[in-house]
Amino acid sequence: MTPILPGSTIGIVGGGQLGRMFALEARRMGYRVVVWDPAADSPAAALADEAIIASFHDADAALELARRSDVVTLEWENADVETLRALEAVVPVRPGPGVLEVAQHRIREKDAARRLGVPTAEYRAVGSLHDLHAALAEIGVPAVLKTARGGYDGKGQAVIRDGAEAETAFRTVAPEGAELILEAFVRFRMEISVVCARSPSGEIACFPVGENEHRGGILHSTVAPARISPELAEEARRIACALAEGLEVVGLLAVEMFVGDDGVVRMNEIAPRPHNSGHYTWEACPVSQFEQQLRAVCGLPLGSADLLRPAAMVNLMGGDAGTGLGRAGTADMMAVPTAALHLYGKAEARPGRKMGHVTALGDTADEALERADRAWRALGSEVDGGALARDGG
Ligand code: AMP
Repeated sequence: MTPILPGSTIGIVGGGQLGRMFALEARRMGYRVVVWDPAADSPAAALADEAIIASFHDADAALELARRSDVVTLEWENADVETLRALEAVVPVRPGPGVLEVAQHRIREKDAARRLGVPTAEYRAVGSLHDLHAALAEIGVPAVLKTARGGYDGKGQAVIRDGAEAETAFRTVAPEGAELILEAFVRFRMEISVVCARSPSGEIACFPVGENEHRGGILHSTVAPARISPELAEEARRIACALAEGLEVVGLLAVEMFVGDDGVVRMNEIAPRPHNSGHYTWEACPVSQFEQQLRAVCGLPLGSADLLRPAAMVNLMGGDAGTGLGRAGTADMMAVPTAALHLYGKAEARPGRKMGHVTALGDTADEALERADRAWRALGSEVDGGALARDGG
């Protein structure tokens, strides 16, 4: 297969921070980038050669992206599958719509995992309150009720601790008629993730296992390597490879997992794109997850996914750090050894919105985390002081 070489144009579905970092890497390597996003001021459009500003349901915009691109990839997995199928008839779409169809739906995702020999929490499809009671009788409590589609960052889900809470959970999680999934609540000692790349020829490379801390259902920090045994790390990588191969992914597949109190590694969910928990690769690996995505979708040999040094990443959220611009603590943050700042150029800060992140390296995972945390505090510590006023919020 002929590789897609520098000078070619890569189309990206979605214009968020993942597309922005992809565009930075692609342009560094001499590729042209065209971004498709409904927002005129999307983080990726600012760094792309061209932007198509149109709704994701606009079929003409999709065909325009295909016409302008040599290959199309994505940074947002809720793109419309049928639209991508139409795109695929004109230009290679990597990963393909089939992978997306699985990743957009928690039940299909877990069905696929089971089929490929990957452990998951016990789960049942739920379409009615009657189904929910039946599922609770089988799975027991505590359990987690989630929408099958469209949920992210902990949205669209409720923990049920007692059968009496079932009806309230059912009414709050989703509008009438939505497909739901009930999962057994996993008692875990750690949340981890692996970003895996697969090329059209079937070559696979997995980045090291990241150890994730969530706050309020949103990723707060990632430490790599995860502080788990080599056996558990190997199992996590086996799972990521099995899913990437089994789903015939071309591009990236991020796999979020739980390390259970029982020592079993279970898949939670997958995303066929770069992942927040893989941002540390920018500083800590010979090739970042974004360059790896480019190599995979262009049919080039994959780069080394080795960890050069232990690393940690902490997210800057709109509620703490404002837009991140003009922060009085920036100089203090930069004084932390190895600390690196990434800001996504979002004009408007909101609680729960990812505005940027900081990464730091260390001789050990603990040292990297301590530095990243110190850098993060330096930026976020003046929420009540002058920095917030400067942010205009
Ligand atoms: P998700 O939207 O599936 O990524 O869930 C967001 C967060 O909720 C996860 O990162 C976990 O911290 C928690 N969570 C989700 N599903 C479960 C589960 N079955 N058992 C325990 N915790 C869960």
